[in-house]
Amino acid sequence: MDSESWNPSSWRSKKIAQAVEYSDQDHLDKVRTKLKALPPLVTPSEIERLRSQLASVQLGQAFLLHAGDCAESFDACTHENISNKIGLILSFSLILIWGARLPVVRIGRIAGQFAKPRSSKTEKLADGREVFSFRGDNVNGLSPEDRTPDPQRMLSAYFYSTTTLNYIRGLLTSGFASLNHPRDWSLAHVRSPALREDFERITEGLADALDFSRTIGAGEGIAFEQGGPKGVHGEVDFYTSHEGLMLDYEEALTRLFPLPPALRSPASFNGTPVVPGTPLRNRQTDPLTTASRSSSRRPVQNTSSTPLLAEALDNVWGQYNTSAHFLWIGDRTRQLDGAHVEYFRGIRNPIGVKVGPSMEAEELIRLIQVLNPDREPGRLTLITRYGAEKIGKFLPSHIKAVQESGVPVIWICDPMHGNTLTSTSGLKTRNFNTIVSEVTSCLRIHTECGSVLNGVSLEFTGEMSDDGFSVTECLGGSMELTEEQLGLRYQSFCDPRLNFEQSLDLAFLLSNHYKK
Ligand code: PEP
Ligand code: MN
Repeated sequence: MDSESWNPSSWRSKKIAQAVEYSDQDHLDKVRTKLKALPPLVTPSEIERLRSQLASVQLGQAFLLHAGDCAESFDACTHENISNKIGLILSFSLILIWGARLPVVRIGRIAGQFAKPRSSKTEKLADGREVFSFRGDNVNGLSPEDRTPDPQRMLSAYFYSTTTLNYIRGLLTSGFASLNHPRDWSLAHVRSPALREDFERITEGLADALDFSRTIGAGEGIAFEQGGPKGVHGEVDFYTSHEGLMLDYEEALTRLFPLPPALRSPASFNGTPVVPGTPLRNRQTDPLTTASRSSSRRPVQNTSSTPLLAEALDNVWGQYNTSAHFLWIGDRTRQLDGAHVEYFRGIRNPIGVKVGPSMEAEELIRLIQVLNPDREPGRLTLITRYGAEKIGKFLPSHIKAVQESGVPVIWICDPMHGNTLTSTSGLKTRNFNTIVSEVTSCLRIHTECGSVLNGVSLEFTGEMSDDGFSVTECLGGSMELTEEQLGLRYQSFCDPRLNFEQSLDLAFLLSNHYKK
């Protein structure tokens, strides 16, 4: 891998897995030009704040909750759906905070999760026609008549992401997301009396705790210390993410920005003026410099009076993907010599990579060296997804390989993607018990290997059907959803998601685990 030659389009010379083939190249170019001119969705300082919070996650000082839909759709972009999603993520994290007494970093699969990889390029319809597979609203339409990839959809995805994020920002700053009002997030949806009682116990405890800390004049309550609008008691942070699958889209939203001032420390200047446009790591020649930058999150005053140094300090730049705070590489696009790994290695955002049964230990070591060459805490998250049956066979050797490599990573468990099955009625589903089984094995194996599980990655939804009930896509949970009930309110057009009650069941299970 040639580390000198990275730029936002260097992925174009590599093999592109899951590539989308557009028939109208001119149209694609126009869309790319337009996207390049549009404003960023997220800012470098937000991205850096997430990076520093993820460094805490990696040290075991916080827990990472990564969750949301398998795929968002343009039609499901409504105020009810967005607030239900945020409400569920907040409720889930509150239960965890309460049990584990650890801050929770929340990253939603939201505001951009519009593209999907597919195992087959085409799909055979019941009437015998063969059409392109549905690849998510960013690429083509769900209707069989609308399967030709259309570049215009990338612009729509940008604007749907913008409007989603705009509403999320509104919710976060207008009191909805405040720890002071947790009842607003979910209680209306919790029908099970036992679950309701458990959740109410926590919200009452929390109200007391916040009241107490206000009375004694304590600062941020139990909110994450580095985050939250400063000075607002009990406010929370929230970040966005999606699979970085459509590299045309990701490249167009990649922008060269100066590092936020807090990161421009004199220690990151090694005597050579830095050149905008090269990946940050290429500018560093000595390991001491790298180590200082990695660990430096405090504001450093520029006491230098030399203009050269001052100029160099102002010239510390990073390539930021401004479409989301966090992006991940899927299990089908993580080839070492492929386009996705090439693109991801040069962006400054914290990134994730899916790790499944097909990953060789040596391959994993190479991958983490390429994706986190400066060994920066919080930079790289491994999202493991083996399946409950296979985790015991693969995770221990992956943990050992990573430990021997010395590259720091965050480990999170995705108990969804290795546990998908088809019900007798033909619906794609997952069983709550199997999901719990993978999480439980994951926790145990990490402990046995002298490692720590730092979080979970889930597909869940707070979405309600039109008649006001939770969706019915996964089997089991405290509501004991059966195969016969799956068809009642099955709303996912992609992978099956845990519904509101099943998600809270899992939250309590994790919370109780950490309480012990
Ligand atoms: C997903 O997260 O929706 C997904 C497709 O996962 P994976 O890449 O692990 O199969
Ligand atoms: Mn999925």
